[in-house]
Amino acid sequence: MSNNVPEMYGSLVFNNKIMREKLPKDVYKALRKTMENNTHLELDVANSVAVAMKEWAVEHGATHYTHWFQPMTGYTAEKHDSFLTPVGDGQVIMDFSGKELRKGEPDASSFPSGGLRATFEARGYTAWDPTSPAFIKDKTLYIPTAFCSYSGDSLDKKTPLLRSMDVLSKEAVKILHKLGQTEIRTVHTTVGAEQEYFLVDRALYEKRKDLIFTGRTLLGAMPPKGQEMEDHYFGSLKTRVSAFMHELDEELWKLGVPSKTKHNEVAPAQHEMAPVFETTNVAVDHNQLTMEVMKKVAERHGLACLLHEKPFEGINGSGKHNNWSITTDSGVNLLDPGKTPAENLQFLVFLVAVIKAVDDHADLLRVSAASAGNDHRLGADEAPPAIISIFLGDELAAVLDSIENGTFFEQQAKVRMETGAAVLPHWSRDTTDRNRTSPFAFTGNKFEFRSLGSAHSVADPNIMLNTAVADTLAQFNESLEGVEPEKMEDAVRELLRRTIKDHKRILFDGDGYTEEWVAEAESRGLLNLPSTPVALPYLVKERNIEMFVKHGVLTEKELKSRYEIQLEKYCKTIRIEDRTLQSMLSHQFLPALMTYADKLSESIQRRKAVGTFGCEAEMEQLGVITDAYNDIYKKLAKLKEDTATVEGMTDMQKAAEFYHDTILADMEDLRTSADAVEDYLPQNMLPYPSYEELLFSV
Ligand code: ADP
Ligand code: MG
Repeated sequence: MSNNVPEMYGSLVFNNKIMREKLPKDVYKALRKTMENNTHLELDVANSVAVAMKEWAVEHGATHYTHWFQPMTGYTAEKHDSFLTPVGDGQVIMDFSGKELRKGEPDASSFPSGGLRATFEARGYTAWDPTSPAFIKDKTLYIPTAFCSYSGDSLDKKTPLLRSMDVLSKEAVKILHKLGQTEIRTVHTTVGAEQEYFLVDRALYEKRKDLIFTGRTLLGAMPPKGQEMEDHYFGSLKTRVSAFMHELDEELWKLGVPSKTKHNEVAPAQHEMAPVFETTNVAVDHNQLTMEVMKKVAERHGLACLLHEKPFEGINGSGKHNNWSITTDSGVNLLDPGKTPAENLQFLVFLVAVIKAVDDHADLLRVSAASAGNDHRLGADEAPPAIISIFLGDELAAVLDSIENGTFFEQQAKVRMETGAAVLPHWSRDTTDRNRTSPFAFTGNKFEFRSLGSAHSVADPNIMLNTAVADTLAQFNESLEGVEPEKMEDAVRELLRRTIKDHKRILFDGDGYTEEWVAEAESRGLLNLPSTPVALPYLVKERNIEMFVKHGVLTEKELKSRYEIQLEKYCKTIRIEDRTLQSMLSHQFLPALMTYADKLSESIQRRKAVGTFGCEAEMEQLGVITDAYNDIYKKLAKLKEDTATVEGMTDMQKAAEFYHDTILADMEDLRTSADAVEDYLPQNMLPYPSYEELLFSV
């Protein structure tokens, strides 16, 4: 392995440098134009690019290419074709055309479509996304693509994401022009997705059906030590973990994924990786790639990487933070307040637009973070509450106050930090401390949406965010229409004043984990959507459909299909968990209890035969085991009955609610009983690895 990181970085990516080297000048220019201005690419250009791409890929050992896409499963999909083309005489050449680069035709009938694709309409199309670079993995050229049905409906997450980036750019440029920035032609949103994960020993992982089938443990008593010592967060890395992280970095760097930060997280066996931010579309692709590579590299180190939001009960689960901002084509970060935010009108316009967008469409952000896995986190005291609110920090809150009240904002001088030790550096303190409990926090020059689960695609939140902000900017543009340039600043300030007044209810700087906040949020009229079945219907609320349709991001049909798919995914997830739990209890846990009860009774009998021992302790122990057996057996019967009920339900929304309210509650109840008796079982009689082994053996 080369130690030269700059040389290694992007070595498997058909990136700008390679394109410049390999493509004829005019082709290169046309392609760059497409990438920078989001314009259409002609077939002759595509042909040229295809030839260069194939040559480069073959030089790097590739034999196949694949259109890589993101169906609504939330995972990625790929079908590999070889470059091989027969030319007669039993000879072949390696060939690849512009047509093959631009368009693929996978059989789409096995991907979720939520009723979008009639069964006779099996054909689907993948279309090359030239704005996300192609790369080589496993001797295959990966071409990022969008995926749609025969009738043109979007069946993926990339298409609406690209549409949402376009519409945000359009509306942002319009308002920037009004503010005098007439040379700006496009803006793009940027995303840095921080990724949390767990690592457990692979051999142990393979002995747990629940981890294999559901990604989380459905049973398991807490070990003597959990996360209470707070010694894992930022703790020194164990040798095996460190080796994993080194290889992960290298693999990601070769693929052009700018992995930057790595550290231990709060829970034992939990870790985090954060990349440098990129254009949203690329960041989304790269986060998908990161999750895949994490799993692969873990395998090579005898580890299993768990991306589930809540692999272990009783200790923190994993999330994903979506850091988001907007940048102009001249490289200006529109959410950078600069030294004097109160005077930075352009910044304030975008800041206030985000505030209004989040207040108006908090439901959509909540939906984007909704999944069976993430339901275990949101609202529990380890992750942001299910209520969406915004943390701004003292300084910006004061700036907005002054605008709303028409008062003068006095900039506070930055506080100098001195540690008292001569050798240590001095610095000026940030104007705001962090707030870890806020779901949507301003963090200096970007917003950080923290409600997402670790397994989520970051496409969804960004589709919502981009569209909602675009919609707000469109409203701003409308209300500023026809204002004379010399009156613009006053008009904008008045617009901001009104908007702040109308939407400041979404601002909250306090502790989001408290009961008081839940009550306070309710009195402010903020939504509290505690679970996925409750949240999902908001996706198809009339006003949300209107917004998506108005901006051409998603059609009504596409939205309804997405709602159905998510609902179905939720039901299936819990159904699999339900069956797995039943199987573990029936085939593993109850038999283990039975065996142990037999052992105890035999031993009691034997001892009684020897003399007049009372065997009180053993009898008591046997009682505990037998009671637990009965208890679990009965609860399991109830779960089976309820399972039969839900499997007979035809209304998917009702079924989802039943899964949440009844099946999950049954499962939880069973778990409580099983975990309580687990402590009475001898270590070698537990039929699968314990929490202790899973969490502390790497
Ligand atoms: P913090 O410590 O406040 O979380 P970092 O600078 O470590 O901030 O950034 C965390 C994540 O935010 C990283 O993935 C980083 O690349 C990303 N980020 C930083 N600036 C931006 C930006 N302008 N747009 C999007 N993401 C950003
Ligand atoms: Mg962060």
